Amino acid sequence: MLRVVEQAAFTDTGRQRRANEDAMLARAPLYAVADGMGGAKAGEIASRTAIDILGLGVEDGIVKARLVELVRRANRAVHEAQLADADLSGMGTTTTVAHVGDEALTVAHVGDSRAYLLRDGSLRRLTDDHSLVEEMRRSGRLTAEEAANHPQRSIITRALGPDPVVEVDVREFALQAGDVVLLCSDGLTSMIPESRITELLKESSRLDTAGRALIAAANAAGGRDNITVVLLRIGGIDDEDPTVAGAPADADEQATQVGLAATGASVPDLDTAATVAGSGSAGTIDAHEVRAAAEAAGPVTQPLAARDPRPGRRKQRSRRRSRAFAATIAVVITLGIVAFAGWAATRVTYFVGSSQGFVAIYQGVPYDLPFGVRLYKPIYRSGVPTSSLSASERERLYDHQLRSGQDSQDLIKAVEREELR
Ligand code: MG
Repeated sequence: MLRVVEQAAFTDTGRQRRANEDAMLARAPLYAVADGMGGAKAGEIASRTAIDILGLGVEDGIVKARLVELVRRANRAVHEAQLADADLSGMGTTTTVAHVGDEALTVAHVGDSRAYLLRDGSLRRLTDDHSLVEEMRRSGRLTAEEAANHPQRSIITRALGPDPVVEVDVREFALQAGDVVLLCSDGLTSMIPESRITELLKESSRLDTAGRALIAAANAAGGRDNITVVLLRIGGIDDEDPTVAGAPADADEQATQVGLAATGASVPDLDTAATVAGSGSAGTIDAHEVRAAAEAAGPVTQPLAARDPRPGRRKQRSRRRSRAFAATIAVVITLGIVAFAGWAATRVTYFVGSSQGFVAIYQGVPYDLPFGVRLYKPIYRSGVPTSSLSASERERLYDHQLRSGQDSQDLIKAVEREELR
């Protein structure tokens, strides 16, 4: 009979992000990492929500057969949270969760956070990333080296949150005493190669030393993203248990925020600032039109409330009422058409903007409707800070021109390769 005899868990903001949107869980027999995404605080809330639900699995006495059900429950929680709050709209999170049983490890995952197994000095990846680039590599359209350096490697194809139901990959692996399991977010694997991860794991006899070394190596390589590592060692039932008994529940033991030295304040950030720009091109809508329609309804409906004491004016009043009713109906229909056109436009158009100080691709159109309805959401955030752009680059990138998905990706690729100049 096997069990976890040592564990360590660390999460770090990295060197370029301002906030840590990763979350983790290290409570035997469940271990997990989640890497959240979304504007403002949404990414943090998404990953935290998922981890909180996974934590309930420990309290419920989770069995491996119910691991997928638990991940689906986490998905529903993130999905419902983003439906309930417009500020959280479009948020999502990866999750990779491992259950340590008496003889087997069960791994369930969605997204590009990974699980690895170190046995006899060699590292084996236990998960297939649900990412655009990894899918292209698996189908033979990219080599492993091209995939590792691809600028779009952080675009994921599956996440908890966007849809009410999610497909979860689950696999089981036989365990042996001495195995080391690593769960990590892409902030580790996008910064250092697997060969380096193997070396660092082999160099340290203790997992907390190994965990700190992995975080330090990812930061030394640039630390472009949040970095999370969860490590556990498998042993026999009689082995010493120095860390597990007194281990923190899901400790954010280390959260060193290095942050950005400066961000470009002159460019409005769409996550926090409402932006109404320009006139809408064909197929899009203009927020000004909506306001004009609403204003037109104002003066017409107001006289209905005022009482007119003179009897000779009754017919006039009745005609006015009919006109007001017709105008109200017209406004309602116009708003309906505008809303539908807006919804349709947000499905097929993209633009480039700034998200949390970084160059990003937004899906939708760069307008806000009244009552805080946004017609856009960030779908990809690059590692390029707005503050690193020249004035002419900012002007060119943040022109809010509507683009196709491919066009936006090509433009971001050029920025990431510093080819824009
Ligand atoms: Mg990440």
